[in-house]
Amino acid sequence: MEWTRSETLALAAPRCNTCVGLGLRIGRNKTTHPCNCVLRAIFRTCLDRFRECTAREKYMSRVTLDPLPGKDRRGAWGRKDEEFSADFCLVSKRTLTELEHRIFRYHFLLGADWKLCCRKLRMDRGNFFHSVYRIEQKLGRVFRELEPYSLFPLDDYFHGPVKSVTSSLTPRVVPIRPPLRKSVQLPDLRIA
Ligand SMILES: [Zn+2]
Repeated sequence: MEWTRSETLALAAPRCNTCVGLGLRIGRNKTTHPCNCVLRAIFRTCLDRFRECTAREKYMSRVTLDPLPGKDRRGAWGRKDEEFSADFCLVSKRTLTELEHRIFRYHFLLGADWKLCCRKLRMDRGNFFHSVYRIEQKLGRVFRELEPYSLFPLDDYFHGPVKSVTSSLTPRVVPIRPPLRKSVQLPDLRIA
């Protein structure tokens, strides 16, 4: 996928020293890359939704009928909150290294603070926070670039991609014509 400024602008940190709030970095050969502040914002948005999905009472979870692509046009029943939670955990496990995934579990899922994590993982504070930033950036990129269904934007994940609206009447409209004989000459009503 190609990252554009219209996507990154709203997510970028206004005071970021790298992208000065635009969200894009220009790489070699003038290629554009998302700034790390944007990737971290995507990760944090997904993490917030994950926490919301897992903290919600089970009776509030809803079943939805999602259309499946293809000729049949049949739908499949699904539970979006549970699917999102499972995707969040499984994609993270698949993307991160073993050590990164342990940090991810202790710090983001189990809520351990940096002191506890450093003691458990035998790391110093600097290395721990470098790893946390790297995890956020790695996962933020994967959550957005995942094919065919990305976890971010959340609205697309939970409600399907936004389609442009067109009138369903347009192709079927037929002008109403009164039954007239073809040779009838209508009188000229213009006043000379
Ligand atoms: Zn930035």
